Amino acid sequence: MPQNGLSYYSLNTFFKEKFGGKTVKLSIDGGFTCPNRDGKISTKGCIFCSEKGSGDFTPGRVMSIAEQIEEQKRRLSQKWPGTMYIAYFQAFTNTYAPVEVLRQRYSQAISQPGIIGLAIATRPDCIDKKIAELLKEFSRKTYVMVELGLQTSNENTAEFINRGYPNSVFENAVKLLSGFGIDTVCHIIIGLPGESHEDMLNSVRYACSLGINGIKLQMLNVLEGTDLGEYYKIHPFDILSLDQYTDIVARLLEYIPEDIVIHRLTGDGPRDLVIEPKWVFDKRLVLNTISKKIRLYNIVQGRLSKQP
Ligand code: SF4
Repeated sequence: MPQNGLSYYSLNTFFKEKFGGKTVKLSIDGGFTCPNRDGKISTKGCIFCSEKGSGDFTPGRVMSIAEQIEEQKRRLSQKWPGTMYIAYFQAFTNTYAPVEVLRQRYSQAISQPGIIGLAIATRPDCIDKKIAELLKEFSRKTYVMVELGLQTSNENTAEFINRGYPNSVFENAVKLLSGFGIDTVCHIIIGLPGESHEDMLNSVRYACSLGINGIKLQMLNVLEGTDLGEYYKIHPFDILSLDQYTDIVARLLEYIPEDIVIHRLTGDGPRDLVIEPKWVFDKRLVLNTISKKIRLYNIVQGRLSKQP
């Protein structure tokens, strides 16, 4: 629940409630690929996806899982001594491998000192009963959350971005994981080409209606070397300004039930690849502007979530 004067239920608050102290996610490249890139579904990938499979801030697969964790812990333990860590399998599709391979890689991560949980980013079409059972097995030893990329509930936009699955697949994955008692987090992109404010609101309300436990909102980053980047150069579409984005995000909070954890309200892409917008790099400014608007509009998370 919202605490510390915040008008929303932040991930920090959730971690403090759950683990009793500061907890940080360490981004890992677990060496997986993605069915939307390796040809099983498509070879093109989601239109916005970078070469590193949305894992641009992981140390990279040239290092072992243990080394990636160690390297980040070394850096962060100076800043925040006594911190606890969640191993965050971020790059590509982290349930896209045989169960035995998944078991081995997740085990490597949780066997590292200081790791108290797993966060696993994946596609909903890469969740089935066997994988849910495996995650349940891990959840008996450690905390487990699964992050599912929805991006939008508008099926036309989903087709345009080459998401590669219909909404019903997302619904089934959330249902399956929830049935096994696994926390689900939904990733939504704000500012996709052609989307109206109503589309963005619909995506948020849709995901929340399915019983997710957490939500991540992120401004669309147009990256060099992606199909979206190429498209943008030929058909420049409107990119939300900082003012527009922060307005939308602050107002969306009112529609997210108060028990849903807000994992992220902004995120930046790799500096050398972002074509637009450049304002995402100043995360502090983005968050401060959202906070100002929350105060200005008297926003309280969940206030409008029960509206029909
Ligand atoms: S599912 Fe993830 S890794 Fe695969 S193409 Fe889409 S964004 Fe990239």
